[in-house]
Amino acid sequence: MKDLSLLTTADLLPIKMIFFDADGVTKRKGTDFEKIEGKWVMKTWGLTEVMKSGLEKLRQYYIVCITSGRSMSYLLDVYGTLVSNRFYLQSEIGMFCYKDGKNCNTCDLTSEEISVLGEIKLGLKKVLAIEGVKGFEPKERIITLHCRHEIPEVLAVVAEADPRGLMHCWWNGEAYDILPKRVDKGVGEKWLCQSLGIKLSEVMVVGNGINDQEQGQKVGISVTTDPDHLVADFEVRGEERGGDALVQQILHLRA
Ligand SMILES: [Mg+2]
Repeated sequence: MKDLSLLTTADLLPIKMIFFDADGVTKRKGTDFEKIEGKWVMKTWGLTEVMKSGLEKLRQYYIVCITSGRSMSYLLDVYGTLVSNRFYLQSEIGMFCYKDGKNCNTCDLTSEEISVLGEIKLGLKKVLAIEGVKGFEPKERIITLHCRHEIPEVLAVVAEADPRGLMHCWWNGEAYDILPKRVDKGVGEKWLCQSLGIKLSEVMVVGNGINDQEQGQKVGISVTTDPDHLVADFEVRGEERGGDALVQQILHLRA
């Protein structure tokens, strides 16, 4: 992996589109749940003004897409004011794409996948009382269970409800993401590139974790903001501020 300071204007020449992860790349990681008037409310970090104006400037030069495990309603809350025909959102590990004012499906699930996800969700309700389990994040399709640390019972529930091994159960450091193995950010990436007529060689991908791996394959340039957990062409240390550093460097190189 090369240090980000070695990225040059020549490297950027073929690039037309940049995919960014949300948490740990364009905003600070961390999710908590707080009970307000009897209801569990999810609390996360927002977008800094520096990052927001950086992304706004960046979209003059590149088509930008935020691809995240979060739900679309969450992404619209955080990034909604940036959305345009130069700025897209992909939620639930690329399963949905917000395009032309609509939430589009990038990949249809089979009835077996839908039923296994239902079984897993039911089974996981029993682990909610275990110490360290924080709660479910509201999602349309994938299951996200936030925990303070890894919980072996979660893997046991998934193994029992999914004997054919159709699902990924990814621990991302703050939550388990459970989703069909056919689905990954690479699927959403190809769907959007195809519909915009962009080749993968014209794409830059910026991520920080296991769910960014597929998306970073075969693209023009990949960047990691967490080199300990994700390998890429370029690395920038300082996970929460890595995305900031990258945006500023690209803007500097383009100026
Ligand atoms: Mg991330």
